[in-house]
Amino acid sequence: MRNYDVCVIGGSCTGVFAAIRAAEDGYNVCIIESSNCFGGTATAGFVNIWHTFYDAEYKTKIIGGLSQEVVDLLAKKDAVIETPNSPHRGYTFDSEQLKFVLDRMVIESEITPYLHTSFYDAETEGNKITSITVGNKDGLFKIGAKFFIDATGDGDLCRRVGIESYYDEAMQPPTMCARLYGIMPDQYGLVSQTLREHGDEMDLGKDWGWRGFTPGDPRFVLSADNHVFNVNCANADDLTYAEIEGRRRVEGIEYLLKKYIDSKIQITALPSYIGIRETYHIKSMHQANVEDILYGKRFEDAVINGSYRVDYHHADTSGITFKYLDGTQEVIPEAGAKMELSRWREPIDVDPTLYQLPYGALVPASKLENILMAGRMIDADREAFSALRVMVNCNQMGEAAGQAAAIALHEGIRAKDVSTKDLRSALSHKGAIII
Ligand SMILES: Cc1cc2nc3c(=O)[nH]c(=O)nc-3n(C[C@H](O)[C@H](O)[C@H](O)COP(=O)(O)OP(=O)(O)OC[C@H]3O[C@@H](n4cnc5c(N)ncnc54)[C@H](O)[C@@H]3O)c2cc1C
Repeated sequence: MRNYDVCVIGGSCTGVFAAIRAAEDGYNVCIIESSNCFGGTATAGFVNIWHTFYDAEYKTKIIGGLSQEVVDLLAKKDAVIETPNSPHRGYTFDSEQLKFVLDRMVIESEITPYLHTSFYDAETEGNKITSITVGNKDGLFKIGAKFFIDATGDGDLCRRVGIESYYDEAMQPPTMCARLYGIMPDQYGLVSQTLREHGDEMDLGKDWGWRGFTPGDPRFVLSADNHVFNVNCANADDLTYAEIEGRRRVEGIEYLLKKYIDSKIQITALPSYIGIRETYHIKSMHQANVEDILYGKRFEDAVINGSYRVDYHHADTSGITFKYLDGTQEVIPEAGAKMELSRWREPIDVDPTLYQLPYGALVPASKLENILMAGRMIDADREAFSALRVMVNCNQMGEAAGQAAAIALHEGIRAKDVSTKDLRSALSHKGAIII
């Protein structure tokens, strides 16, 4: 048994930020990550875009804290490009450089890292989680802690200790990303057209995707040009199928782009795991709903501010729906169809410019007192989730969960009893923007 004050499970920025906030207050913190690096989808999954830190009008800054610190550190390495005033991308970074930055932040914060280490099981006593069972090259062993934070994306710890979970029947599908070489930005449209017209040749069906540059040579392109439908990647068999099917799709895409656009186009890297948009959601003290998000409801105990639109990848038709805080929407009903522009609501006098999430969203609905969660397992209806799921929002959930764990330990209180006044004040003191 190895013992810590706080154990964070899952090492994307969500988990790393949680661990840093708890460690800063003097607690002995460890972080468990099954991959070989920190950063989750942003590094191992290749997804290299954080959205704006500003409100929907790009006038007021609403996100700071560790997200800003990471962008500043990446900027020092020329590893991030800012695209202001865009709903599509705010900060495009080099995923490989983010790995170095996160390694350093973890080590400098004196957090004990466990890479290549997977969470498997948990032990409880009364109203507390006492330890978890993890596995790595040393075999299976237990990690004891006074407080646990589930940042696994899939809510692995929450589900293992029996906290109620659910999933959307029309769950957003995963995408196998790839780093391609040899496509210039002015060819992106041609890529979409080629895949649409010739996809059947490689049994790709009609799919829709996007691509993005990476800082440095623009010929290196992040391709997110496929979906694997009807899978729940928190289930082992589905995950295995999705990885192999995702790679088959990427191989087919490379073949078509070589054949119809340029024989020099090639895959230069595949991610360590498929990009997972959604699996299980964990019941919490506050379920986020689309009205609160899109009408910009303010909460006195808010710990997260966001302005990213509803971005819902349809479950089985390759369509996508965007809904904005100003009442407009963009819908592509299926791959190849024209984008339909309309309104999801009538105009109102003053459009909201941001939404918030209260602390209760991070507290699982459970008798267990020493657990918080952060990330895409959030308790939210379909459209609220589709806005909250992006990394700038998950990052803030991580920071708030880590800070709340530190306060709970300091006061000797349950997670749900943490004073949100104290929490907001501590986060603000450390650089978060608290509104
Ligand atoms: C193709 C694609 C494109 C996207 N585009 C964007 C975009 O442009 N911008 C944006 O902000 N968001 C985007 N998203 C959404 C966003 O990437 C995710 O919603 C977000 O990264 C979720 O963060 P998370 O920390 O909850 O989960 P994850 O990033 O999935 O991190 C979970 C971490 O926990 C680890 N883990 C899981 N289970 C265990 C276990 N049992 N033991 C140990 N470790 C474990 C994983 O290895 C991982 O590191 C995209 C998603 C996809 C799939």
